[in-house]
Amino acid sequence: MRPPRFHRYNSLLFHSLVRVTCGTQKDFTTLKYSEYFIPTLRDVPAEAELVSHQLLLRAGFVRKLSAGVYTLLPLGWRVVQKIESVLRDEMDAIACAEMRMPTLHPREMLEETGRWNVDVVYKLQDRREAEFALGFTHEEVMTDIARRDMRSWRDLPRLLYQNQTKFRDEPRPRGGMIRTREFIMFDAYSFDRDEAGMDVSYQKLKGAYDNFFARIQLPVVTAEADGGAIGDLDNHEFMVLSESGEDTILLCPNCGYAANAERCTVLTPESVLSSAPASNGDKPLEMVSTPGARTIDEVAGLLGTSANNLVKTLIYVADGTPVAVLVRGDHEVNEIKLRRLLKAESLGLADSATVERITGAPVGFAGPVGVIGLRLIADNSLLTMRNFIAGANQADAHYVHVNLGRDFSPTEYADIRVAVAKDLCPSCRTEKLEDARGIEVGHIFKLGSKYSAPMGANYTEESGAAKPIQMGSYGIGITRLLAALMENSHDKDGIIWPVAVAPFSVIIVVTYIKDEALVKAGQELHDALRARGVDVLLDDRDERAGIKFKDADLIGIPVRVVIGKGLANGTVEIKVRKNSDSAREAPVAEAANTVVALLSDLS
Ligand SMILES: [Zn+2]
Repeated sequence: MRPPRFHRYNSLLFHSLVRVTCGTQKDFTTLKYSEYFIPTLRDVPAEAELVSHQLLLRAGFVRKLSAGVYTLLPLGWRVVQKIESVLRDEMDAIACAEMRMPTLHPREMLEETGRWNVDVVYKLQDRREAEFALGFTHEEVMTDIARRDMRSWRDLPRLLYQNQTKFRDEPRPRGGMIRTREFIMFDAYSFDRDEAGMDVSYQKLKGAYDNFFARIQLPVVTAEADGGAIGDLDNHEFMVLSESGEDTILLCPNCGYAANAERCTVLTPESVLSSAPASNGDKPLEMVSTPGARTIDEVAGLLGTSANNLVKTLIYVADGTPVAVLVRGDHEVNEIKLRRLLKAESLGLADSATVERITGAPVGFAGPVGVIGLRLIADNSLLTMRNFIAGANQADAHYVHVNLGRDFSPTEYADIRVAVAKDLCPSCRTEKLEDARGIEVGHIFKLGSKYSAPMGANYTEESGAAKPIQMGSYGIGITRLLAALMENSHDKDGIIWPVAVAPFSVIIVVTYIKDEALVKAGQELHDALRARGVDVLLDDRDERAGIKFKDADLIGIPVRVVIGKGLANGTVEIKVRKNSDSAREAPVAEAANTVVALLSDLS
């Protein structure tokens, strides 16, 4: 039976605060700043561009070992443990059981699903020349567990999770903890008899993660996403909106629809799709000289027009076969959509030799007019274009006044471009989408039988029939979350931690440690708070008060109590980190109550 849940988010206090000490004897030690390890830096490290990266280094949370490989110092590790503890609580609530899988993944297992050659896999050999991958994700290991131990309908449904280090040989580690090669990921998996069961599990996990993000006070957008290598079924990303994000998110201000731009459908009205291009106003086709103008901007500039009057012609090679792809000059090809349309295993831009062979012109001058024997795929947006500009398949030349139907006819029209702001919302179909940058902190997938079928993870139905287990996988990037929390909550002085994940809830600053009365009052308040389960750091360093205040702000502790000259009048100063003008005096006898009440308000 599950233990009763004492708290939900916004209820009284969190884990660290509800740990009640029993009896009269102290069963805690004092964590003193002077004995702890918090190597703060005065200057902003030159290599760090992102705010979170600067703060992680400056505030002494992490240190870099090599490109994309970091050590979590005591404060960083403390935040990770707080994050994990909130997540564990949410997993308990949905009866999702914790386990721990290995880091060494045998080659044979990854070959069952064709993932041995995924390009980010770190590979190694043991002394007997057996080959292994360092775990980059754990679907295969989980599926292996399922096929051995979930054999009957009675064994399902099941929810399992772990919190583990993952390894990915990222070509470009970046942004401090945003994209690293070794990182901590919290990953849960669901196992069900059928799709309906999988949907229920998916909603359970999604709900638990929603609760989690609410409890750590991190606003996230749940965006429809592309399954990429993992799958094509329903999947969502949890996105923290931030200028420093790598992804573009499209949001509908009307209905709340959100999608990763790479996933977002471009809605082309039926009236456009069904109507033949109008031909009135068509001007005669004309070739113009465009010496050296290869890019859209160069051509538009030379001809005194804008990119949306141009058509880009790109030659792709899909599974060895060249295709021509046409999009408006200011649009980008969405290679995920294109790959789906072509059902291609491999897809990439053709090299310059191939482009020259096919179009007869150097790269930059390809166009659709006169191209024969090549599949010509046009984005739907071309249907509304008249008298546009395109490459002439000759060096230094473009056509102007090109028109569909008259000058060339695409093999097909399709949605193959990246959606952008001002496109119509594909959900409510009434409002224009807005765009924002986002940091992906979680990604959840319905996997169906994507892993269970190739790995033979079947269970026996009541009827005796064997069926593949329907799976889901649910990941949260814990170390990236550390950075996202900082990107989301900081000011010029440093980090501002939400209480639930702050390395400490309270810092007590004793301004002058040679004054015994101050030291004694600091220790007493510390003990009173610890006895009430509050997570406290006592700053007992022999430093100037100003330095201690700066460090407290930099490392972002939610509540600061200053034991200083006010003590002579029986008061201490209490300040909330996120409100810079919140400092106020409180009677020392009331200090513990005041702090506990403040933490409750902040939680
Ligand atoms: Zn909408």
